[in-house]
Amino acid sequence: MDIRDILLLIVSVVTVLLGFFVVRSEEKRPSNTAFTAFSLAVCFWSLGLFFFRISEMAITSILAAKFFYIAATAIAVFFLEFSLLFSQERPLGTKRRLFLYIPLILFSFLLIFTNNFLIEGIIKKSWGKQIILNAGDYLLYNIFFIFYIGYAYKSLFKIYRATREQIIRLQFKYIFLGTIGGFIIGMITNLFLPWVTYRYIWIGPLTGLMMTVAISYAISKHRLLNVKVIATEFFSSLLVLVFLVRFIISESLGEFILNGSIVFVATVVGIFLIRSVWKEVRIREEMESLSRQLATANEELKKLDAAKSEFVSIAGHQLRAPLTVIRGYTSLLLEGSFGEIGKKAREALDKVTFSTNQLVKLVSDLLDLSRIESGKIRYEFSENNLAEVVERVLKEFTESIKQKGLKLEWQNESQGLSSFAFDKDKMREVVVNLLHNAIKYSPQGSEIIVRLENISGVPKQIRLSVQDQGIGIAEADKKKLFAKFGRTEEAQKLDPGGMGIGLYFVKRVVEDHHGRVGIESPGPGKGSTFWVELPTQK
Ligand code: ADP
Repeated sequence: MDIRDILLLIVSVVTVLLGFFVVRSEEKRPSNTAFTAFSLAVCFWSLGLFFFRISEMAITSILAAKFFYIAATAIAVFFLEFSLLFSQERPLGTKRRLFLYIPLILFSFLLIFTNNFLIEGIIKKSWGKQIILNAGDYLLYNIFFIFYIGYAYKSLFKIYRATREQIIRLQFKYIFLGTIGGFIIGMITNLFLPWVTYRYIWIGPLTGLMMTVAISYAISKHRLLNVKVIATEFFSSLLVLVFLVRFIISESLGEFILNGSIVFVATVVGIFLIRSVWKEVRIREEMESLSRQLATANEELKKLDAAKSEFVSIAGHQLRAPLTVIRGYTSLLLEGSFGEIGKKAREALDKVTFSTNQLVKLVSDLLDLSRIESGKIRYEFSENNLAEVVERVLKEFTESIKQKGLKLEWQNESQGLSSFAFDKDKMREVVVNLLHNAIKYSPQGSEIIVRLENISGVPKQIRLSVQDQGIGIAEADKKKLFAKFGRTEEAQKLDPGGMGIGLYFVKRVVEDHHGRVGIESPGPGKGSTFWVELPTQK
């Protein structure tokens, strides 16, 4: 036995291991079964060549030769089957399969049951054994082989061209590059050269090994984790095999026991190792699939959220127009533009105004929310005077302040330094929200102080605060009020229709102006001060 024979043995062991482990660790695909068959064929081919080379007698050599020719036929058949099934979901139909297997069945039949099909005899040469071939049969065999392999590549190319899936394209490249060289060399040494000499047939299985490795790599490439499992299984089995061989060829009882124990320990450790790697891979795969599910769920949610914001925005705009009309006409009615109205009618109209204002606030909250959520808040910065904005809002609220019997104190201590660049409409809404809350959450007859003052420092800041003697806020609640839908229980009782969006919007607008917001309150029932600070210089 020389190094070439050992190589042949190694090839047969490695190919059979690869053929089984790759397929076992993969999802069940029809092409994988064809691949196992292919690697088994390579294994048998290599084994056949091994026995052919080492057997002493002509009869055993011929038997081995018949065996490796059947295996070689199987290589071509299963490679074609693999190529036809590559990336397909369904196995081949029985008829197509039978058709595909005809040469294998025919050659096997002829080789097993006739005496001189293909092989007419054997002669010894200085370098080894030469088979005397039947030229006609061998020509037929050559044609079959070239046709099958050519057809296999044609179908692989067809799939490659038809697919857009990156994984399949990548797999194709590995399979193509990994097998084409192998087939060319293998066909030269084991198909064409044998017309002249059998001297180099031992090279063929080495290329067979190369092909098997390339295909296994391609199959498991897209799931790199499995490469880990395959490698563990592969090396564990190889180790056990080596120890097993040593065990079989043990020469003394001591060696026999020692090697036997090694085989036993290696097998047990190997099994544990493989199982733990499997477990790890499975957990990771589960995690991956869970995170994929989460990602899709997240996408769905985002879409739903966007649709909701869109809906709210459209609905809000549609509601706003009729509300403005209602508000306009009620105020005209109250002012007597359509003639004198009686006391009862006035009371009714006051109620309409109140409810309309509530509705207007609700719609504006909804619109603010949808603007924030859809990221569509657009600012128009220009030089404006904050004191003027505040004064205008105070004017708008005169009526509701009067109705609730509240005292309002406006302390403008900005000393004419309240002009800076800000978005007037948004800032107006900020003031409206703060004042609206102060009125809403204050008891009848209490006082509200609105104060504007400068804060020295770099950069210069302006501070607007709205102080009331209302329901106040517990320390623990302060944080949540500027968050979306953040409300206290007291507020919910007092104003069940509120949404908890006003302050969320205030915070967003102020922060987009590079400012800060805050709350001060000595506690529930003791009033509160809401303030905003804005830089007046860059
Ligand atoms: P809404 O008033 O619609 O609930 P806001 O975002 O304007 O929404 O306010 C959020 C919460 O902050 C209110 O529900 C209330 O609990 C609290 N809050 C706001 N302003 C005051 C205030 N002036 N006094 C006491 N609590 C307030």
